Amino acid sequence: MKQYTITNQYLQKNLKQRPGGNRVPRYAVAHDTGNPDSTAMQNFLYFNSKQLASSAHVFIDDKQILVIIPLHEKAWHVRSNLSDANEWSIGVELCYGPSIDFQEAYLRYVWFFAYLCKTYKWDANHHIKGHFQLDPKRRTDPLNSFHQYDKTFPGFIEDVKREMKKQFLKREKSESHKHHKVQIGAFSSRENAEKLALKAKTAGFEVFIEHD
Ligand SMILES: [Zn+2]
Repeated sequence: MKQYTITNQYLQKNLKQRPGGNRVPRYAVAHDTGNPDSTAMQNFLYFNSKQLASSAHVFIDDKQILVIIPLHEKAWHVRSNLSDANEWSIGVELCYGPSIDFQEAYLRYVWFFAYLCKTYKWDANHHIKGHFQLDPKRRTDPLNSFHQYDKTFPGFIEDVKREMKKQFLKREKSESHKHHKVQIGAFSSRENAEKLALKAKTAGFEVFIEHD
């Protein structure tokens, strides 16, 4: 299973689009930038360049997962009067467009939502909202980009769940392959070694006699 790197490169603190706060996030909102071919880094540079009325926490393209506002802080990524999303959720933007490898960007996007669900113990069915669901009159993202590449929102949620399963499976596997050895004696005579081995076996332990 692929592991991706999360890069933290935060906006200056004096910007309106980084209002601060210290919360435990309650859910995540899936967006796309609506600005074809703008990369994660270009979005960082733009959002860091002047005072703006909106922002998001994370931008993901085919090269990186870029966190520009710490996840425990607020960001203005959904219209305020419609929901509590700015207060409690994490806004994640998918970068797309002809010059961005959609498959690579989508894999990182799915992986990051799986990572959020694992980190905050969320259920992908209930804790990931599309921006279009929160603001149906004005917004269609991330469906704009999804539909250009034959992705659907329910399919995306399934992909996140599959990714979570892979991550859990991998952890269980690596646990079960670990062996811890306990040595309980070293003897110059084989006979003494076998005596102790017998004692240990009788006590219910699995015993190996090794020769150095
Ligand atoms: Zn949006």
